[in-house]
Amino acid sequence: MGSVEIYATTGNFVISLLSLLILGITLLIVSQGKLAVKKSLFCIYAGLVLEFITVGISYKVNSLYTQGYTIDTWVFLELILVLIAMLFFAIAALRILVNNVPEAPVIGTLGGIGGVASVYFVYIYPNSYMIANMQQIFILTGFVFLSIAFASQLHRKHSSGYLGGTISCTVVSVILLLRLLGVFYDCDVLYSWYISPLFYNVMAVVFASINADYLARSLDTSRSEIVKYNRRLEDIIKSSPFPIIISRLGDDKIILANNNAVKLFGIDITELDRYHLKDFFADPESRTQLNERLETEKEVQDFEVLVKSYSGDSPFWLLTSATTIDYNYDVVLYAAFQDITARKNQEVLLKNQATRDPLTSLYNRRYFEEEVNKRIADARQNNGIYCVLMTDVDLFKRVNDTYGHKTGDKVLIELASACERALRDCDIVARYGGEEFVIFLADVDIEAARVVAERLRETIAGLHVPSDDGRIVTFTISIGISSSKVSDNIDTLIKTADEALYKAKQNGRNRVELFMPEDLQGFNPNNSALHKDESANRHPIFEKEGAEEISLLDGVAEHHIEGTTSNIEAPHSTPTTKTES
Ligand code: GH3
Ligand code: MG
Ligand code: MG
Repeated sequence: MGSVEIYATTGNFVISLLSLLILGITLLIVSQGKLAVKKSLFCIYAGLVLEFITVGISYKVNSLYTQGYTIDTWVFLELILVLIAMLFFAIAALRILVNNVPEAPVIGTLGGIGGVASVYFVYIYPNSYMIANMQQIFILTGFVFLSIAFASQLHRKHSSGYLGGTISCTVVSVILLLRLLGVFYDCDVLYSWYISPLFYNVMAVVFASINADYLARSLDTSRSEIVKYNRRLEDIIKSSPFPIIISRLGDDKIILANNNAVKLFGIDITELDRYHLKDFFADPESRTQLNERLETEKEVQDFEVLVKSYSGDSPFWLLTSATTIDYNYDVVLYAAFQDITARKNQEVLLKNQATRDPLTSLYNRRYFEEEVNKRIADARQNNGIYCVLMTDVDLFKRVNDTYGHKTGDKVLIELASACERALRDCDIVARYGGEEFVIFLADVDIEAARVVAERLRETIAGLHVPSDDGRIVTFTISIGISSSKVSDNIDTLIKTADEALYKAKQNGRNRVELFMPEDLQGFNPNNSALHKDESANRHPIFEKEGAEEISLLDGVAEHHIEGTTSNIEAPHSTPTTKTES
């Protein structure tokens, strides 16, 4: 392709060499990536470098010839290099061609024929005309190969680089063909020096474009991969038997919800983008917790969360598995749910059964003792104070006898809720047995506890409970108080409060008595007064204590309560009957 004019002046040579270097640098840059045809481009570059050298040899041969030197070896070298350049072009072309033409036979045949012909016309039957023609044919063949190879890629999307390659190689092929045929031999343009540097620069642009095309195609491919991946994910989500929601991490907006999720949360699928995942968390704190865990764990399994439907109906429990994934060019939260409301309710029921008294719903004795032990341990560390109150309904047997057990039960229920209402959240009230309740008052001394107890006593005395037959029942309670000054042992606290309660009963009922530290002298906890003959007064239910489930109505029918066996008379606190107004 090149003309010997390249070497005629330093300017021509430098410009041509620089252009070749620019092409080389472009090739190095382009070849950094994963471009599939980069080996072919290196072959093209190798062919062009060889061709550049052979033009130099040609120039030298001309000057040697005019000086009368033997030029056989130079001519042979020139021919062989042109042949190799042509083979490089052919290799590049075969690699670019899509149909994967086997290289070795083609290269072997071309190289063989060219080599034999070179030897023959240089040494065996020297023919300068044939040599000149062969040079041109070799290089022309190379460029035709390249034109065809580039053209074979034009059907592909993003093929501007191949189009540039096809056009420039075809132009060079036409120039070479015209030179070979000897037409327009007087047209200087066909033989001018700048064809080579021009071609090198055009090829630099072509190489860069081929790379850009490749990147554009890769982008297309990954885009369609993403679309395919999204579709697959959507299909999986839609067919899942579990409710699944996808929400954007950035703004928490829901972008996908399957049918099960739509039904579960009451979502209007046509207006999906108006919902945020946090809208469905009954407790905003748990949403924050989930996010915090996702930041450290990336995937959260078995996260129990209380949620609500969009309309805000009664909350329900879900077991959630959540993970962050890529979806539609966003980082999203993928959350799958399982309704565990039934299990949770069962858990709450079992917990209540284990800790609560079924008649009054107050805590049971076991829970009271466990919880108060914890509070005492805390108080020990913080020098805390507290009091324990024992309450007992005065002459309750008479209530039962006069109004029946059902009304007796009702009285106990009213008493329980009155106690709960009168006390603070930090206090604990429990049904200790029969009609005896025990109360733990946190952070109060015995004097403050007395005030609380007096108020409670008065409140109870003012209660009006309707009996089954329409009468109104009023009743009173007696209260005994012990305090952290007396003991920090739960048993002793209860026994001493009981002792004070006994005193209250003895002193006339409907009153509050205190157990002071000095009362400990001569007090025998094993001889606790009120319960000396406890078994005689026990409701039959307590025979079953420790059993799995206790109903306080158990045995009521069989238990024959006729009049009171108590020998303690109540001077001013007997249950009274009023006519309902
Ligand atoms: P005192 O003033 O001395 O306490 O007299 P009292 O009649 O209240 O005597 P005591 O406390 O010894 O009697 C408790 C009675 O409470 C005995 C029992 O039949 C009754 N009782 C216990 N548990 C229940 C219950 O769950 N329901 C009903 N209706 N009665 C119960
Ligand atoms: Mg009692
Ligand atoms: Mg009683």
